[in-house]
Formats: sequence, C-alpha cells, structure tokens
Amino acid sequence: MSLHRSLLPILVLCLLILGGCGGKSAYAPDSFGSRTLLHTLWFDGQLAGSESDLPRAALPVPDLRPPLRTHPLRALPPVPPARQQIITSVIPDGGRKIIALTFDLCERAPHLAGYQKDIVNFLRSRNVKATFFAGGKWMRTHPDKAMQLMADPLFEMGNHAWTHGNLALMDESEVREQIEWTQAQYELLFEELRMRARKRGVGREMSRVQPSLRTMRLPYGRNNEHTAEIMASMGLSIIQWSIEGEKDERARTVDQLVQWNLDKAQPGAIILMHANAVPQKTQELVPLLVRELGKRGYEFVTVSELLEMGPAVTVRDGYFDKPGDNRYVDTLFGGKGTLGRVK
Ligand SMILES: [Zn+2]
Repeated sequence: MSLHRSLLPILVLCLLILGGCGGKSAYAPDSFGSRTLLHTLWFDGQLAGSESDLPRAALPVPDLRPPLRTHPLRALPPVPPARQQIITSVIPDGGRKIIALTFDLCERAPHLAGYQKDIVNFLRSRNVKATFFAGGKWMRTHPDKAMQLMADPLFEMGNHAWTHGNLALMDESEVREQIEWTQAQYELLFEELRMRARKRGVGREMSRVQPSLRTMRLPYGRNNEHTAEIMASMGLSIIQWSIEGEKDERARTVDQLVQWNLDKAQPGAIILMHANAVPQKTQELVPLLVRELGKRGYEFVTVSELLEMGPAVTVRDGYFDKPGDNRYVDTLFGGKGTLGRVK
C-alpha cells in the first residue's frame, strides 16, 4: 500500500472527528470535554468542592428572571424519526452490558438546589461516565459547577428545562421558553468557559466541549401529545429512564435501593438519580451501585453514547416507575410545575 493510501483513512477519520481539522467552529461530536481544560482551569481542591455546595434554600421571592440571552444562537438538526418519542432505554447491539447513570439537577423558581459533590467526586475518582440533566436556572445559580461538568470528559450534560416546568400543562410557547432559555444559558456558560480557556492558553481544548445540549429530560417525566414533536424540531432527544434509581428512598435503606436497581438492571438501561442534594441517600447509593454493577460486568456510558449502541426503546408518555404514576404532580406544584407545592 502506498504512503498516500495508508494515510487516507487517518485523514478521513480526522475530518470526521474534527469536522475540518482545526476549523474555527469544529468540535468533536463524540467528546464531552478535556482533562487538560478541566485541570488547567481548576485546582483539585476547587473541583472537590466544599460543604457550602450542599445547602438548599428557599428564596424570599421566586426567581422568574430570564437568562441574559433567551434564544440559543446555535440551531440543532431535527431528531431522527427513530428517536422522536420518549426514550426509556436502548437495546445494545450484541447484548453489550452497558448502562447509563443519569443525574438530574432540578431547580424550581422559589428555591436554590444544591450540588452533591460526593457523587461527582466519586465518579471522577473511578473514571465513571455519567450524564447530568441540568435546569437552566440551576446552571445560572451554579455557574462554576456547571462549567466544571461541561469541561469534564467523563460527563455529558442535558437540558432539564428552565425552572422544572411540567410540560404536560404548558402550551407550545411556554415549553419553548423552558427549553430555549436553558439552551441559551448553556451557551452563555460555554462562552464564559471559552474565554477562560483562551486566557489560560488552552483555547484549543474547547473543540472537545459540546457547544449545545443535545438531549433533554422531562421534569417529573411529564409530557403531552405535542411535546415529542416540539423537542424533535428543536433537535433534542427526550431521555426518560428505565429504572427510577431512588424510588421510595425515604422508606428504603441504601442496601435495599442497591438491590432495587440491581433487580431491574439490564443491558442498555438508563438509571434516574439526582445530584442536587434533594434525595438524601444518593451519595451513599452511587458507590455501592457502581461497585455491584461493575462486578456484574457493566460498563458505564453517557446517554448519547448509549444511543449510538443500538435501537432506542420508546414510550409515548413518561412516568416514574409505572405508566400514569406521575400524573399526581399536575396538581401538586403551582406555576405549572415551576413554583412550590400547592398548600
Ligand atoms: Zn427534575
């Protein structure tokens, strides 16, 4: 084989990965960050966080302010037809034992949610991939943490609506606002990250950070008949779960929660958990669950990686554990899901 022919596959691969080898807007579609970027911009102690990351707080008045930019600048291509419903799991090619751990970072208008550093620190210490679905307002109230998650190659981020709106109750313009504000807030933080990276001489590493969120998670798992179509037109795949990882966490011990997850685990599963310090046992559950799933031969992937590994299993309506079991939230929270509990 001539030198020219042997180099051709490398060149093609390079073009595919970078979308043009060094072009200004190029980024690697399968990459979620850069260790160089992460460790240049933050010291280990900063990444590890502190106790001040944990507290949740009630605000004196609900924070209804929009982000500094309300429309994303980047448009995404529409979602392919096979992924236009609500994705609960994937059937991996060859039965490969892969599983996606996902953590929601929910924050409604009247509250500040926390950041459960022990979960993130554990995942980093064991090189475990995961996906974080962040509320747009959460990203605004936790900009440094959000940028750390964005920069970390282990983690994918997804859209979890601006103030946790119940999309089943919202009209199209309200749904678009919840989602677009969050896309725009992510872009604002991406731009801030890029500015910091350039200042520290690692601007090129930004080609490895996702410039837009490409997946979304329904707050409360709630949708109506139009939601899937709207999300598909916005280019966002809806990622539900096949295992409600913290189900009945108040009534169950951590060992019982581990067993609950193991009983439901199967190749291509998606596990729902939270990293906003609202559920109280997740930080104890995650290390045990990762260990037990690892013993059973499971590999951890992000949701976008999972979607590339086999056909998606979809449903028409989201739920927690069984169809219909989340409808009660429609009357539980004010402001179409964005405010506090209705007394
Ligand atoms: Zn949520």
